[in-house]
Amino acid sequence: MKSISVIGSGTMGNGIAHVFAQHGYDVSLVDIKPEFLEKALSTISKNMDRQVAKGSLSQEDKDAALSRVSTFTSLEEGVKHASLVVEAATENMALKLDIFRQLDQFAPADAILASNTSSISITKIAAVTQRPTQVIGMHFMNPVPVMKLVEVICGYATSNEVTQRIMELSQKLSKDPVEVNDYPGFVANRILMPMINEAIYTLFEGVAGVSEIDTVMKLGMAHPMGPLQLADFIGLDVCLSILRVLHEGFGNPKYAPCPLLVNMVEAGYRGVKTGEGFYRYTAGSKDLVVAPRFSK
Ligand code: NAD
Repeated sequence: MKSISVIGSGTMGNGIAHVFAQHGYDVSLVDIKPEFLEKALSTISKNMDRQVAKGSLSQEDKDAALSRVSTFTSLEEGVKHASLVVEAATENMALKLDIFRQLDQFAPADAILASNTSSISITKIAAVTQRPTQVIGMHFMNPVPVMKLVEVICGYATSNEVTQRIMELSQKLSKDPVEVNDYPGFVANRILMPMINEAIYTLFEGVAGVSEIDTVMKLGMAHPMGPLQLADFIGLDVCLSILRVLHEGFGNPKYAPCPLLVNMVEAGYRGVKTGEGFYRYTAGSKDLVVAPRFSK
């Protein structure tokens, strides 16, 4: 595998492109607007500068890595030489199914098609293609250049050979891949999201306040970040949509999203990206400030 196409150049897409380019792969990065691609290139460059400053990447290697990234607004052009496509577009089922229909049409017949989806069924995505044995989940964690895990998700039809190739490729990226089967939430979100939901219920029921809940989990369980802060970081809308996938997929009320989470998302309080969730975020400030509505 030499030529990798990454679809979507947002938070995850630019991180995935960064890691492949740094490890010597040619990367075609695809998004719908040139300005999104420009922003992604500048983010990759800034993130690599941090590695250069820390001494984990030389300036020469940074320049070489950046020169391996090409950008495209045409999906057809961006995937025509791919040996692997990693789709990291917006988490929306209809959009992803449409992208995979196009990937099937435009990527070489032997290319592997991977999705970085957090919650959409790989089996369902694979079923819209003529090559379901070559469709797989490659679930990187945010921030991609830093986090070691890749959850490798085998759809119902994914072949063992394709799974093996993706496990080996992930290791070549200096990641630690873990193979899991395709059921709602896979492993990471099936365990993480109920914990976050329970933390929100704990707040909703008045058992404890925001910083008390996060402090218990940080100091008591050695978590680097409390569950409410983590929910803000992931995005409250993202947490809600994953909980809905779990709730619908298993039909079990234990996954029902807390009404407080539903209200916050409907009101537009989505965490870090909107400036307020359980905490309030001010540009340039690193202080963790509980949102006024939750402060005593
Ligand atoms: P994002 O909103 O930051 O980026 C999505 C990008 O996809 C945008 O730049 C958008 O313009 C682009 N896009 C939309 N339609 C497209 C199309 N038709 N063709 C090409 N590009 C298109 O989202 P993100 O946080 O990077 O998430 C991307 C995927 O990664 C989602 O499936 C998400 O569930 C998954 N994921 C996210 C995280 C996270 O912490 N953010 C972690 C793991 C997995």
